[in-house]
Amino acid sequence: MQTMKIGIIGGSIAGCCAAIELTRRGFDVTVFERSGDELKDRGAGIGVPSGEFDTFIARDLVDADIPNISARSFSRIWRTDEESRLGYLAWDQPANLAALNWGALYRNLRDRVDDEHYLTRQHVVALHQSGNDGAVVELADGSTATFDLVVCADGYASLGRSTLFPEIELAYAGYVLWRGFIAEDQLEDAAALENGIRCVGHPGGHGIFYFVPGPGDVLERGSRLVNWGVYCQVPAAELAAFMTDRSGQQHQGSLPPGSMPPDTEQALKAAARRNLPSYYADITDKSPDTFAYAIYDCEVPAYVKGRICLAGDAGAFARPHSGAGALKGMNDMVSLGAALASGAGIDEALAMWNTERTTANNNLVRFGNQLGRALVEEIPDWSQLDAAGMQKWYTSIVTIKSDYIHTRR
Ligand SMILES: Cc1cc2nc3c(=O)[nH]c(=O)nc-3n(C[C@H](O)[C@H](O)[C@H](O)COP(=O)(O)OP(=O)(O)OC[C@H]3O[C@@H](n4cnc5c(N)ncnc54)[C@H](O)[C@@H]3O)c2cc1C
Repeated sequence: MQTMKIGIIGGSIAGCCAAIELTRRGFDVTVFERSGDELKDRGAGIGVPSGEFDTFIARDLVDADIPNISARSFSRIWRTDEESRLGYLAWDQPANLAALNWGALYRNLRDRVDDEHYLTRQHVVALHQSGNDGAVVELADGSTATFDLVVCADGYASLGRSTLFPEIELAYAGYVLWRGFIAEDQLEDAAALENGIRCVGHPGGHGIFYFVPGPGDVLERGSRLVNWGVYCQVPAAELAAFMTDRSGQQHQGSLPPGSMPPDTEQALKAAARRNLPSYYADITDKSPDTFAYAIYDCEVPAYVKGRICLAGDAGAFARPHSGAGALKGMNDMVSLGAALASGAGIDEALAMWNTERTTANNNLVRFGNQLGRALVEEIPDWSQLDAAGMQKWYTSIVTIKSDYIHTRR
């Protein structure tokens, strides 16, 4: 029997994971990545559920010793007059997360894909089905390639998703994530950030602050980075102006480090000073070249059409509160590999996989939306609640269970 040929569009987290899992299952894969060089670190840190992460270590998708920092709680904090420096601790919500650098995860995956299967500077400009048993990708240089199956792992603004479902659009959530980081040695006192993630609520949003490994992925105290992000509401009508950089160029989706107009950055820092306990406002103040992402979400009607399927952010796209970003795409590919190797015919395998991923990932989008409602759109004054009150409030709004951020101790 001929080896099934699989084309993968996008060579980031989901694309590399697809290449590893499908190659190990004996399929003939080709990754088309439009970037020229190694993908850069996309922002400093990510928090991933430790239990989930261990399954990827067990599958040898990532090294067992990948540098990470354990976080055992989500501390919910609110500034009060009495607690203006560190804030009032409303609730230490249990968590079991590993904080690591996006770049370390990417490099772990990329190192497991042979260069001969990973083609750089290959911009896919179109794709379409080829009869009932194949799909064709068209590249910017005019060449085409035909496969038995094409996996679109081309990120949140996916060409694959818009080709399969032109009617589906990303929905802007009404807020952005303003981000930055500083070296640990710039902190007056590191103790306030040890052993967990600090979630600092304020009217109309919240900020997340936590340690990630420092440059070179070092873990030593004193050498780590403080990774932070503050959710801020920006009405849809003002988004285009917000996403316009200091040279006047308008960006879609994200405003890269170093491009934010100084006035915008100063206004965000001033708002943080008004809203956050001073310890956290000091961190945002000291951060150079802060950057921002617009927050979107989108459910998809299916993960498969004919011989084209979606993976990672190219499929259902959840708000970052769900903590699912990177690992969701990896789970998509582990389960696609298992389905294709199950012995079922390819169309039957794809149909089973489609049902599983569409259900699971659309559920994650809804979970992210519930968290967004609780933590940004309708965030109550946490200083009026104790731990029991916080738990009651949270469970009344966040009703969907997820293995990602709801990991229990
Ligand atoms: C700029 C950026 C910064 C991020 N920062 C963080 C962060 O700090 N923390 C966090 O938790 N999550 C972050 N995320 C989200 C997280 O990285 C994603 O959830 C995760 O990377 C999803 O992986 P993915 O492989 O599905 O998509 P992506 O990582 O977005 O990768 C898509 C890949 O497809 C390639 N591509 C796109 N279109 C084409 C095409 N037509 N032809 C060929 N190649 C194509 C792109 O170059 C890219 O390499 C970030 C995402 C982005 C895009």
